[in-house]
Amino acid sequence: MVTLSINGKQVQVPEETTVLRAAQRLGIEIPTLCDHPDLHPLGGCRLCLVEVKGGKQFNASCALPVSEGMEVTTESPALAEARRDVLKLMLHGYHDAGYANGQSAPTELVHWATHYGLDVAEHQAKEAHYPINADPNPVVWVDMNKCIQCGRCIRACAEVQGRFVWQMTGRGFDSHPIAGVNNLMLDARCESCGACVAYCPTGALDNKPSMGAGLPEKKVTTTCGYCGVGCQFDLNVKDNQVIRVTSNPQAPVNGMHLCVKGRYGYDYIHHPERLTKPRVRRYLLEAGDTPKPSAPQQNPTPLWDWVETDWDTALGITSRKLQSIRDSYGAESIGILTSAKCTNEENYLMNKLARQVIGTNSIDHCARL
Ligand code: SF4
Ligand code: SF4
Repeated sequence: MVTLSINGKQVQVPEETTVLRAAQRLGIEIPTLCDHPDLHPLGGCRLCLVEVKGGKQFNASCALPVSEGMEVTTESPALAEARRDVLKLMLHGYHDAGYANGQSAPTELVHWATHYGLDVAEHQAKEAHYPINADPNPVVWVDMNKCIQCGRCIRACAEVQGRFVWQMTGRGFDSHPIAGVNNLMLDARCESCGACVAYCPTGALDNKPSMGAGLPEKKVTTTCGYCGVGCQFDLNVKDNQVIRVTSNPQAPVNGMHLCVKGRYGYDYIHHPERLTKPRVRRYLLEAGDTPKPSAPQQNPTPLWDWVETDWDTALGITSRKLQSIRDSYGAESIGILTSAKCTNEENYLMNKLARQVIGTNSIDHCARL
């Protein structure tokens, strides 16, 4: 362990911890843009500068390992001035064309620029240098005019998603991320997970389906219904409609990570054909008996149409039918297929239902098929 002091407070941390993480452990906030706790440090944006006693220059705390007896200062007029200069340089190559992006909070760049007293509109580039919405993929909005070359998208795609789509090209003010060797994103093996969007601190990458959707009124944390992994995220809601999904860093299973279904596959929620109540064949409600097996093919009748009912009725019919099949043909005549869309607990209960209630071992899971 290494003992150091930050702003006069002592802290003990394991060797190879960075000064930034040691400060965070003490509850001291140091401004950052290229840093993210999920990603390897880059030391690129220089916003997290700190003073180390005896040092000749400011150091980027995200890439500075702790050392025994180190004395660090994270706030001073000189540091504030240095950070302001760093932000001015970033804004020099930044241009916000003013379109509505559907984000409720300022981006991290705007937050820190405002924090250090900079008016973004005044300091930003006067015109765009890159096309807005530059990639035709259906989900990731690309506006490199807002890019500050922090490299978070590159590291998120490589380290979180394992796709290595993005890389940096160019030099100086011309440097910016490109997909593949300047391909379209989908041609560069992008699988539309939106991780690069989630980690981008400026809105240079954004959620295309949410552009122009307005500002969310609230966020509701929920668990994804697409599979049994149990990823959590925040539904951004406006007028009772989901307009955006954002990562919830506190999600215990997935953190910031989501797949394309969880992040972008929410239009089914308000789809007019979405089933929201159980349905049964009408004959089951009216006749309470099974028609001859050939009836639906040879002579369809209105009795075979689907009707909405309540859960008690639907589950009552299901259990009566299962019981009658088991009584007539034996328990082994019944097989049960469960689903990866269910939770582990639900699948466990189906296992109990099959083996202990119905008495069959014929139970399987769609993930094995
Ligand atoms: S959407 Fe996912 S796979 Fe595609 S570039 Fe971004 S992080 Fe990589
Ligand atoms: S697109 Fe966003 S995440 Fe990627 S380098 Fe630019 S500002 Fe950083």
